[in-house]
Amino acid sequence: MVQKVDHIGIAVKDLEESLKFYEAALGLKAVGTEVVAEQKVRVAFLPTGDSEIELLEATSEDSPIAKFIEKNGEGVQHIAYRVESVEAAIEEMKEKGIRMIDEKPRYGAGGAKIAFCHPKSTGGVLIELCQRN
Ligand code: ZN
Repeated sequence: MVQKVDHIGIAVKDLEESLKFYEAALGLKAVGTEVVAEQKVRVAFLPTGDSEIELLEATSEDSPIAKFIEKNGEGVQHIAYRVESVEAAIEEMKEKGIRMIDEKPRYGAGGAKIAFCHPKSTGGVLIELCQRN
């Protein structure tokens, strides 16, 4: 089902400040930013070879990213696995008894179709299933 690690999602307080580190210290390059209104986040993707780093900044206090930072501080928030079909992956996970946060695909940054698995079913890791066309 999983083709590769598509990206690693990192919760940050200030996207511009964080980009300085990733671009200046690591030499990565952001490929534009996007606001995902549904998830109340602003994101930047930084390609790293075959996968990407996704920096996520909250655009509202009730954003999942704001809540994550309040609880854990900044840091790795989710791991996204590339799948061929997110619908098929959701069905497969449900058949295997994995609890899904999203039982239907939702819109992800860059036009991806995504669905999150519940960390209670995954050993504490927020897993995103991610389909790109
Ligand atoms: Zn993601």
